[in-house]
Amino acid sequence: MNYAQNILGTIGNTPLVKLNSIVKDIDALVLAKLETFNPGNSAKDRMAVKMIEDAEKQGLLKPGGTIIEGTSGNTGMGLALAAIIKGYKLICVISDKQSKEKMDILRAVGSEVIVCPTDVEPENPRSYYSVSKRLATETPNSWYVNQYDNPSNSLAHYEQTGPEIWEQTKGKITHFVVGVGTGGTISGIGKYLKEKNPNIKIWGIDTYGSVFKKYHETGIFDPNEIYSYITEGIGEDIIPKNVDFSVIDGFTKVTDKDGAVYTRKLAKEEGIFCGNSAGSAVKGLLQLKEHFTKDDVVVVLFHDHGSRYVGKMYNDEWMRERGFLDSEKVVALDLVKEHINAPLITVKTEELVFHAIDRMRANDISQLPVVDVTGFVGSVDESDLFKLYFNDKESASTPVKNVMSEPFPIVKKNTSIDAISKLINKDNSAVLVDLEDGNYQIITKNDIINAIQ
Ligand code: PMP
Repeated sequence: MNYAQNILGTIGNTPLVKLNSIVKDIDALVLAKLETFNPGNSAKDRMAVKMIEDAEKQGLLKPGGTIIEGTSGNTGMGLALAAIIKGYKLICVISDKQSKEKMDILRAVGSEVIVCPTDVEPENPRSYYSVSKRLATETPNSWYVNQYDNPSNSLAHYEQTGPEIWEQTKGKITHFVVGVGTGGTISGIGKYLKEKNPNIKIWGIDTYGSVFKKYHETGIFDPNEIYSYITEGIGEDIIPKNVDFSVIDGFTKVTDKDGAVYTRKLAKEEGIFCGNSAGSAVKGLLQLKEHFTKDDVVVVLFHDHGSRYVGKMYNDEWMRERGFLDSEKVVALDLVKEHINAPLITVKTEELVFHAIDRMRANDISQLPVVDVTGFVGSVDESDLFKLYFNDKESASTPVKNVMSEPFPIVKKNTSIDAISKLINKDNSAVLVDLEDGNYQIITKNDIINAIQ
Protein backbone atom coordinates (compact mmCIF):
# COMPACT_ATOMS: atom_id res chain seq x y z
CA MET A 1 0.00 0.00 0.00
CA ASN A 2 1.15 3.47 -0.81
CA TYR A 3 -0.04 6.17 1.56
CA ALA A 4 1.22 9.12 3.58
CA GLN A 5 1.34 8.85 7.38
CA ASN A 6 -0.53 12.16 7.64
CA ILE A 7 -1.16 15.23 5.48
CA LEU A 8 2.38 16.57 6.01
CA GLY A 9 3.70 13.58 4.07
CA THR A 10 2.10 14.95 0.90
CA ILE A 11 4.17 18.17 0.89
CA GLY A 12 6.60 18.62 -2.00
CA ASN A 13 7.27 16.87 -5.33
CA THR A 14 5.04 19.39 -7.05
CA PRO A 15 4.70 19.20 -10.87
CA LEU A 16 6.56 21.23 -13.46
CA VAL A 17 4.28 22.25 -16.34
CA LYS A 18 5.12 23.88 -19.68
CA LEU A 19 3.53 27.28 -20.28
CA ASN A 20 2.26 27.80 -23.82
CA SER A 21 0.04 30.60 -25.09
CA ILE A 22 0.78 33.14 -22.33
CA VAL A 23 4.54 33.03 -23.09
CA LYS A 24 4.25 32.80 -26.90
CA ASP A 25 6.44 35.92 -27.21
CA ILE A 26 9.31 34.25 -25.35
CA ASP A 27 11.95 32.41 -27.29
CA ALA A 28 12.67 29.75 -24.65
CA LEU A 29 11.12 26.75 -22.93
CA VAL A 30 9.17 28.16 -19.97
CA LEU A 31 8.18 25.74 -17.20
CA ALA A 32 6.02 26.56 -14.19
CA LYS A 33 6.69 24.95 -10.80
CA LEU A 34 3.15 24.59 -9.46
CA GLU A 35 3.47 24.91 -5.70
CA THR A 36 -0.33 24.99 -5.48
CA PHE A 37 -0.17 21.17 -5.46
CA ASN A 38 1.00 21.22 -1.84
CA PRO A 39 -1.77 20.28 0.65
CA GLY A 40 -2.09 23.85 1.97
CA ASN A 41 -2.15 25.02 -1.69
CA SER A 42 1.09 26.98 -1.46
CA ALA A 43 4.89 26.80 -1.41
CA LYS A 44 4.77 27.88 2.20
CA ASP A 45 3.85 24.38 3.48
CA ARG A 46 7.47 23.40 2.96
CA MET A 47 9.05 26.12 5.07
CA ALA A 48 6.29 26.09 7.72
CA VAL A 49 7.02 22.46 8.59
CA LYS A 50 10.78 23.01 8.40
CA MET A 51 10.63 26.04 10.72
CA ILE A 52 8.53 24.09 13.26
CA GLU A 53 10.76 21.01 13.16
CA ASP A 54 13.92 23.08 13.55
CA ALA A 55 12.34 25.00 16.48
CA GLU A 56 11.45 21.68 18.12
CA LYS A 57 15.06 20.47 17.69
CA GLN A 58 16.42 23.71 19.14
CA GLY A 59 14.02 23.46 22.12
CA LEU A 60 12.30 26.73 21.18
CA LEU A 61 8.94 25.03 20.66
CA LYS A 62 7.81 22.69 23.42
CA PRO A 63 4.88 20.23 23.62
CA GLY A 64 1.51 21.94 23.87
CA GLY A 65 3.06 25.30 22.95
CA THR A 66 1.52 28.19 21.01
CA ILE A 67 2.93 29.16 17.61
CA ILE A 68 2.64 32.88 16.80
CA GLU A 69 3.29 34.40 13.39
CA GLY A 70 2.65 37.55 11.37
CA THR A 71 1.59 35.97 8.10
CA SER A 72 -0.15 36.99 4.91
CA GLY A 73 -2.02 33.74 4.99
CA ASN A 74 -0.07 31.09 3.12
CA THR A 75 2.55 30.56 5.82
CA GLY A 76 -0.33 30.49 8.29
CA MET A 77 -1.96 27.67 6.34
CA GLY A 78 1.26 25.61 6.35
CA LEU A 79 1.76 26.29 10.06
CA ALA A 80 -1.88 25.35 10.74
CA LEU A 81 -1.53 21.96 9.06
CA ALA A 82 1.65 21.20 11.01
CA ALA A 83 0.13 22.53 14.26
CA ILE A 84 -2.86 20.18 13.87
CA ILE A 85 -0.70 17.13 13.26
CA LYS A 86 1.82 18.01 16.00
CA GLY A 87 -0.66 19.30 18.61
CA TYR A 88 0.19 23.01 18.87
CA LYS A 89 -2.05 26.07 19.12
CA LEU A 90 -1.62 28.72 16.38
CA ILE A 91 -2.21 32.49 16.38
CA CYS A 92 -1.88 34.25 13.00
CA VAL A 93 -1.51 38.03 12.90
CA ILE A 94 -2.53 39.27 9.45
CA SER A 95 -2.73 42.68 7.75
CA ASP A 96 -6.13 44.02 6.68
CA LYS A 97 -5.20 44.16 2.98
CA GLN A 98 -5.19 40.37 2.78
CA SER A 99 -8.20 38.73 1.18
CA LYS A 100 -11.12 37.71 3.39
CA GLU A 101 -10.86 34.22 1.92
CA LYS A 102 -7.35 33.86 3.36
CA MET A 103 -8.57 34.85 6.82
CA ASP A 104 -11.59 32.49 6.65
CA ILE A 105 -9.38 29.63 5.45
CA LEU A 106 -7.01 30.12 8.40
CA ARG A 107 -9.91 30.04 10.82
CA ALA A 108 -11.22 26.90 9.08
CA VAL A 109 -8.00 25.06 9.97
CA GLY A 110 -8.20 26.08 13.60
CA SER A 111 -6.02 29.19 13.74
CA GLU A 112 -6.87 32.25 15.79
CA VAL A 113 -6.67 35.26 13.42
CA ILE A 114 -5.83 38.81 14.53
CA VAL A 115 -6.20 41.54 11.89
CA CYS A 116 -3.94 44.65 11.92
CA PRO A 117 -3.91 47.80 9.74
CA THR A 118 -1.65 47.80 6.63
CA ASP A 119 -1.11 51.54 6.42
CA VAL A 120 1.22 51.89 9.41
CA GLU A 121 5.03 51.78 9.70
CA PRO A 122 6.50 48.42 10.77
CA GLU A 123 7.64 50.09 14.05
CA ASN A 124 4.08 51.25 14.83
CA PRO A 125 2.69 49.23 17.78
CA ARG A 126 -0.41 48.42 15.67
CA SER A 127 1.56 46.94 12.74
CA TYR A 128 1.39 43.21 12.32
CA TYR A 129 5.14 42.95 12.89
CA SER A 130 4.79 44.67 16.28
CA VAL A 131 1.60 42.92 17.35
CA SER A 132 2.99 39.45 16.63
CA LYS A 133 6.22 40.22 18.53
CA ARG A 134 4.26 41.57 21.51
CA LEU A 135 1.93 38.55 21.61
CA ALA A 136 4.96 36.27 21.59
CA THR A 137 6.39 37.92 24.71
CA GLU A 138 3.03 37.96 26.51
CA THR A 139 1.86 34.40 25.72
CA PRO A 140 3.31 31.66 27.99
CA ASN A 141 5.01 28.68 26.29
CA SER A 142 4.89 30.40 22.91
CA TRP A 143 7.28 30.58 19.98
CA TYR A 144 7.44 33.45 17.49
CA VAL A 145 8.16 32.01 14.06
CA ASN A 146 9.43 35.18 12.33
CA GLN A 147 9.51 33.85 8.77
CA TYR A 148 11.32 37.01 7.63
CA ASP A 149 14.48 36.30 9.57
CA ASN A 150 14.13 32.57 10.34
CA PRO A 151 16.89 30.74 8.40
CA SER A 152 14.81 27.53 8.22
CA ASN A 153 12.55 29.36 5.73
CA SER A 154 15.12 29.51 2.92
CA LEU A 155 16.71 26.25 4.08
CA ALA A 156 13.47 24.40 3.29
CA HIS A 157 13.74 25.56 -0.32
CA TYR A 158 17.47 24.82 -0.43
CA GLU A 159 16.81 21.27 0.74
CA GLN A 160 13.59 20.54 -1.19
CA THR A 161 12.41 22.89 -3.94
CA GLY A 162 15.86 23.61 -5.41
CA PRO A 163 16.78 19.92 -5.81
CA GLU A 164 13.31 19.12 -7.23
CA ILE A 165 13.69 21.80 -9.93
CA TRP A 166 17.24 20.64 -10.73
CA GLU A 167 16.13 17.02 -11.09
CA GLN A 168 12.92 17.79 -12.98
CA THR A 169 14.86 19.81 -15.58
CA LYS A 170 17.71 17.28 -15.60
CA GLY A 171 20.05 20.14 -14.77
CA LYS A 172 19.08 22.02 -17.93
CA ILE A 173 17.54 25.01 -16.15
CA THR A 174 19.18 28.32 -17.23
CA HIS A 175 16.95 30.90 -15.48
CA PHE A 176 14.78 30.92 -12.39
CA VAL A 177 12.10 33.59 -11.89
CA VAL A 178 10.05 34.07 -8.72
CA GLY A 179 8.21 36.65 -6.61
CA VAL A 180 10.05 37.82 -3.49
CA GLY A 181 8.45 38.49 -0.10
CA THR A 182 10.37 37.09 2.85
CA GLY A 183 13.00 35.99 0.31
CA GLY A 184 12.95 32.38 1.49
CA THR A 185 11.90 30.89 -1.85
CA ILE A 186 14.32 32.79 -4.09
CA SER A 187 17.26 32.54 -1.70
CA GLY A 188 16.99 28.82 -0.92
CA ILE A 189 16.34 27.76 -4.51
CA GLY A 190 18.82 30.32 -5.88
CA LYS A 191 21.62 29.13 -3.59
CA TYR A 192 21.05 25.47 -4.48
CA LEU A 193 20.90 26.10 -8.23
CA LYS A 194 23.97 28.39 -8.24
CA GLU A 195 25.94 25.74 -6.34
CA LYS A 196 24.98 23.24 -9.03
CA ASN A 197 25.68 25.65 -11.89
CA PRO A 198 26.86 29.22 -11.20
CA ASN A 199 25.71 30.30 -14.69
CA ILE A 200 22.03 29.90 -13.81
CA LYS A 201 20.44 33.35 -13.57
CA ILE A 202 18.11 34.09 -10.66
CA TRP A 203 15.51 36.85 -11.16
CA GLY A 204 13.26 38.28 -8.44
CA ILE A 205 9.86 39.83 -9.05
CA ASP A 206 9.21 42.95 -6.99
CA THR A 207 6.23 45.32 -6.73
CA TYR A 208 5.95 49.12 -6.94
CA GLY A 209 5.85 50.34 -3.33
CA SER A 210 8.58 47.88 -2.27
CA VAL A 211 12.28 48.41 -1.55
CA PHE A 212 13.95 45.31 -3.05
CA LYS A 213 14.90 46.35 -6.59
CA LYS A 214 16.58 49.61 -5.68
CA TYR A 215 18.29 48.07 -2.64
CA HIS A 216 19.71 45.29 -4.83
CA GLU A 217 20.94 47.71 -7.49
CA THR A 218 22.30 50.51 -5.31
CA GLY A 219 22.55 49.21 -1.73
CA ILE A 220 20.25 52.08 -0.74
CA PHE A 221 17.20 51.41 1.42
CA ASP A 222 14.95 54.19 0.16
CA PRO A 223 11.92 54.94 2.39
CA ASN A 224 10.53 57.15 -0.41
CA GLU A 225 9.80 53.99 -2.36
CA ILE A 226 7.46 52.65 0.29
CA TYR A 227 3.72 53.06 -0.18
CA SER A 228 0.85 50.65 0.16
CA TYR A 229 0.10 48.50 -2.85
CA ILE A 230 -2.45 45.87 -3.82
CA THR A 231 -0.31 42.92 -4.96
CA GLU A 232 -0.30 40.16 -2.35
CA GLY A 233 2.62 38.06 -1.16
CA ILE A 234 5.52 39.93 -2.76
CA GLY A 235 7.44 43.14 -2.08
CA GLU A 236 8.42 44.46 1.36
CA ASP A 237 8.98 47.65 3.33
CA ILE A 238 11.81 45.96 5.25
CA ILE A 239 14.87 43.93 4.25
CA PRO A 240 14.21 40.44 5.67
CA LYS A 241 17.28 38.41 6.65
CA ASN A 242 16.01 35.65 4.36
CA VAL A 243 16.73 37.68 1.22
CA ASP A 244 20.20 36.60 0.11
CA PHE A 245 20.99 39.32 -2.44
CA SER A 246 24.22 37.53 -3.41
CA VAL A 247 22.31 34.78 -5.26
CA ILE A 248 19.94 37.20 -7.03
CA ASP A 249 21.01 38.55 -10.44
CA GLY A 250 18.29 41.14 -10.77
CA PHE A 251 14.78 42.30 -9.97
CA THR A 252 11.98 43.56 -12.17
CA LYS A 253 8.97 45.42 -10.78
CA VAL A 254 5.42 44.60 -11.85
CA THR A 255 2.47 46.94 -11.34
CA ASP A 256 -0.62 45.98 -9.32
CA LYS A 257 -2.75 46.17 -12.45
CA ASP A 258 -0.44 43.98 -14.56
CA GLY A 259 -0.16 41.43 -11.75
CA ALA A 260 -3.93 41.20 -11.47
CA VAL A 261 -4.53 41.09 -15.24
CA TYR A 262 -1.93 38.34 -15.75
CA THR A 263 -3.33 36.30 -12.84
CA ARG A 264 -6.60 36.15 -14.78
CA LYS A 265 -4.88 35.48 -18.10
CA LEU A 266 -3.02 32.53 -16.59
CA ALA A 267 -6.32 30.92 -15.58
CA LYS A 268 -8.04 31.67 -18.90
CA GLU A 269 -5.17 30.87 -21.29
CA GLU A 270 -3.35 28.03 -19.53
CA GLY A 271 -6.02 26.59 -17.22
CA ILE A 272 -3.67 27.30 -14.31
CA PHE A 273 -5.73 28.80 -11.49
CA CYS A 274 -3.14 30.52 -9.32
CA GLY A 275 -2.82 33.46 -6.96
CA ASN A 276 -1.85 37.06 -7.55
CA SER A 277 1.92 36.63 -7.27
CA ALA A 278 1.84 34.04 -10.10
CA GLY A 279 0.37 36.70 -12.39
CA SER A 280 3.10 39.12 -11.33
CA ALA A 281 5.72 36.44 -11.97
CA VAL A 282 4.44 35.78 -15.51
CA LYS A 283 4.29 39.49 -16.33
CA GLY A 284 7.80 39.93 -14.90
CA LEU A 285 9.02 37.05 -17.04
CA LEU A 286 7.62 38.76 -20.14
CA GLN A 287 9.33 42.02 -19.10
CA LEU A 288 12.62 40.08 -18.99
CA LYS A 289 12.14 38.41 -22.36
CA GLU A 290 15.26 39.89 -23.99
CA HIS A 291 17.34 37.94 -21.46
CA PHE A 292 16.13 34.58 -22.81
CA THR A 293 17.22 32.76 -25.96
CA LYS A 294 15.93 29.75 -27.88
CA ASP A 295 17.85 27.07 -25.98
CA ASP A 296 17.13 28.44 -22.51
CA VAL A 297 15.03 26.61 -19.95
CA VAL A 298 13.27 29.14 -17.75
CA VAL A 299 11.52 27.98 -14.58
CA VAL A 300 8.96 30.26 -12.93
CA LEU A 301 7.47 29.37 -9.56
CA PHE A 302 3.78 29.88 -8.77
CA HIS A 303 3.32 30.26 -5.04
CA ASP A 304 -0.35 29.79 -4.32
CA HIS A 305 -3.82 28.87 -5.54
CA GLY A 306 -6.50 31.03 -7.18
CA SER A 307 -9.27 30.06 -4.76
CA ARG A 308 -7.87 32.56 -2.26
CA TYR A 309 -8.47 35.42 -4.71
CA VAL A 310 -12.02 34.79 -5.98
CA GLY A 311 -13.29 37.94 -4.26
CA LYS A 312 -10.39 40.00 -5.65
CA MET A 313 -8.45 39.46 -8.91
CA TYR A 314 -11.04 36.96 -10.17
CA ASN A 315 -13.96 39.29 -9.42
CA ASP A 316 -14.95 41.69 -12.25
CA GLU A 317 -16.47 44.24 -9.88
CA TRP A 318 -13.31 44.38 -7.73
CA MET A 319 -11.16 44.74 -10.86
CA ARG A 320 -13.39 47.46 -12.33
CA GLU A 321 -13.43 49.49 -9.09
CA ARG A 322 -9.62 49.70 -9.30
CA GLY A 323 -9.52 50.48 -13.01
CA PHE A 324 -7.84 47.11 -13.68
CA LEU A 325 -10.21 45.99 -16.44
CA ASP A 326 -8.97 47.21 -19.79
CA SER A 327 -11.57 49.64 -21.06
CA GLU A 328 -11.96 47.95 -24.45
CA LYS A 329 -13.19 44.89 -22.60
CA VAL A 330 -16.05 46.80 -20.96
CA VAL A 331 -19.06 46.75 -23.29
CA ALA A 332 -22.46 48.47 -23.40
CA LEU A 333 -24.16 45.64 -21.51
CA ASP A 334 -21.68 45.98 -18.58
CA LEU A 335 -22.56 49.66 -18.29
CA VAL A 336 -26.31 49.10 -17.94
CA LYS A 337 -26.15 45.88 -15.89
CA GLU A 338 -27.15 47.52 -12.63
CA HIS A 339 -30.38 49.07 -13.94
CA ILE A 340 -31.17 46.58 -16.69
CA ASN A 341 -34.60 45.69 -15.30
CA ALA A 342 -35.70 49.28 -14.63
CA PRO A 343 -37.99 50.64 -17.39
CA LEU A 344 -36.40 53.22 -19.69
CA ILE A 345 -37.79 56.66 -18.82
CA THR A 346 -38.96 58.56 -21.92
CA VAL A 347 -41.11 61.54 -22.92
CA LYS A 348 -43.61 61.62 -25.80
CA THR A 349 -43.47 64.12 -28.68
CA GLU A 350 -46.83 65.59 -27.71
CA GLU A 351 -46.02 66.04 -24.00
CA LEU A 352 -45.00 69.55 -22.95
CA VAL A 353 -41.56 70.81 -21.93
CA PHE A 354 -42.59 71.06 -18.26
CA HIS A 355 -43.55 67.34 -18.32
CA ALA A 356 -40.03 66.57 -19.48
CA ILE A 357 -38.49 68.82 -16.80
CA ASP A 358 -40.68 67.26 -14.08
CA ARG A 359 -39.76 63.74 -15.16
CA MET A 360 -36.03 64.49 -15.14
CA ARG A 361 -36.29 66.09 -11.69
CA ALA A 362 -38.39 63.24 -10.23
CA ASN A 363 -35.95 60.61 -11.50
CA ASP A 364 -32.77 62.62 -10.92
CA ILE A 365 -31.66 62.32 -14.54
CA SER A 366 -30.36 64.87 -17.05
CA GLN A 367 -31.66 63.68 -20.41
CA LEU A 368 -34.61 61.82 -21.92
CA PRO A 369 -35.23 60.01 -25.19
CA VAL A 370 -38.30 61.35 -27.03
CA VAL A 371 -40.66 58.75 -28.47
CA ASP A 372 -43.72 58.52 -30.71
CA VAL A 373 -45.52 55.47 -32.07
CA THR A 374 -42.68 54.85 -34.52
CA GLY A 375 -39.99 54.66 -31.80
CA PHE A 376 -37.18 57.03 -30.83
CA VAL A 377 -37.54 60.30 -32.73
CA GLY A 378 -35.61 62.80 -30.63
CA SER A 379 -33.98 63.67 -27.32
CA VAL A 380 -34.08 66.40 -24.72
CA ASP A 381 -31.26 67.45 -22.43
CA GLU A 382 -31.49 69.26 -19.10
CA SER A 383 -29.14 72.09 -20.07
CA ASP A 384 -30.98 72.80 -23.38
CA LEU A 385 -34.35 72.94 -21.65
CA PHE A 386 -32.88 75.11 -18.89
CA LYS A 387 -31.62 77.67 -21.45
CA LEU A 388 -34.90 77.57 -23.34
CA TYR A 389 -36.98 78.13 -20.20
CA PHE A 390 -34.96 81.08 -18.96
CA ASN A 391 -35.05 82.77 -22.36
CA ASP A 392 -38.79 82.26 -22.66
CA LYS A 393 -40.89 81.14 -19.68
CA GLU A 394 -43.77 80.32 -22.08
CA SER A 395 -41.68 77.53 -23.57
CA ALA A 396 -42.68 75.26 -20.63
CA SER A 397 -46.02 74.82 -22.39
CA THR A 398 -44.48 74.01 -25.78
CA PRO A 399 -44.80 70.40 -27.03
CA VAL A 400 -41.51 68.54 -26.72
CA LYS A 401 -41.47 67.82 -30.47
CA ASN A 402 -40.91 71.57 -31.13
CA VAL A 403 -37.74 71.78 -29.04
CA MET A 404 -36.24 68.30 -29.21
CA SER A 405 -32.79 67.49 -30.62
CA GLU A 406 -31.64 64.55 -32.72
CA PRO A 407 -32.40 61.11 -31.21
CA PHE A 408 -29.62 59.43 -29.19
CA PRO A 409 -27.52 57.01 -31.25
CA ILE A 410 -28.41 53.33 -30.73
CA VAL A 411 -25.60 50.83 -30.03
CA LYS A 412 -25.47 47.05 -29.73
CA LYS A 413 -25.02 45.18 -26.40
CA ASN A 414 -21.41 44.32 -27.22
CA THR A 415 -20.29 47.80 -28.35
CA SER A 416 -17.07 48.71 -26.53
CA ILE A 417 -16.89 51.54 -24.00
CA ASP A 418 -14.28 53.20 -26.24
CA ALA A 419 -16.71 53.29 -29.18
CA ILE A 420 -19.53 54.54 -26.94
CA SER A 421 -17.44 57.33 -25.44
CA LYS A 422 -16.72 58.63 -28.96
CA LEU A 423 -20.47 59.04 -29.52
CA ILE A 424 -20.92 61.16 -26.39
CA ASN A 425 -20.01 64.84 -26.85
CA LYS A 426 -21.36 68.31 -26.20
CA ASP A 427 -24.13 67.89 -28.76
CA ASN A 428 -25.11 64.39 -27.67
CA SER A 429 -25.29 63.45 -24.00
CA ALA A 430 -26.21 59.75 -24.15
CA VAL A 431 -26.57 56.58 -26.23
CA LEU A 432 -29.27 53.92 -26.19
CA VAL A 433 -28.44 50.22 -25.96
CA ASP A 434 -30.59 47.80 -27.96
CA LEU A 435 -31.10 44.86 -25.57
CA GLU A 436 -32.45 42.78 -28.47
CA ASP A 437 -35.60 41.79 -26.54
CA GLY A 438 -37.66 44.82 -27.56
CA ASN A 439 -36.21 46.88 -24.69
CA TYR A 440 -33.61 49.64 -24.59
CA GLN A 441 -31.41 51.14 -21.88
CA ILE A 442 -29.58 54.44 -21.71
CA ILE A 443 -25.84 55.11 -21.14
CA THR A 444 -24.84 58.62 -20.10
CA LYS A 445 -21.53 60.43 -19.68
CA ASN A 446 -21.68 59.68 -15.94
CA ASP A 447 -21.97 55.94 -16.55
CA ILE A 448 -18.79 56.10 -18.66
CA ILE A 449 -16.89 58.14 -16.07
CA ASN A 450 -17.92 55.72 -13.30
CA ALA A 451 -16.72 52.77 -15.36
CA ILE A 452 -13.26 54.14 -16.16
CA GLN A 453 -12.26 55.79 -12.91
N1 PMP B 1 3.63 34.74 -3.29
C1 PMP B 1 2.79 34.50 -2.28
C2 PMP B 1 1.35 34.32 -2.59
C3 PMP B 1 3.27 34.46 -0.96
O1 PMP B 1 2.40 34.22 0.06
C4 PMP B 1 4.63 34.69 -0.71
C5 PMP B 1 5.13 34.72 0.70
N2 PMP B 1 5.10 36.03 1.25
C6 PMP B 1 5.48 34.94 -1.81
C7 PMP B 1 4.94 34.93 -3.08
C8 PMP B 1 6.94 35.23 -1.64
O2 PMP B 1 7.68 34.13 -1.17
P1 PMP B 1 8.87 34.35 -0.18
O3 PMP B 1 8.30 34.86 1.11
O4 PMP B 1 9.48 33.00 0.00
O5 PMP B 1 9.81 35.34 -0.77
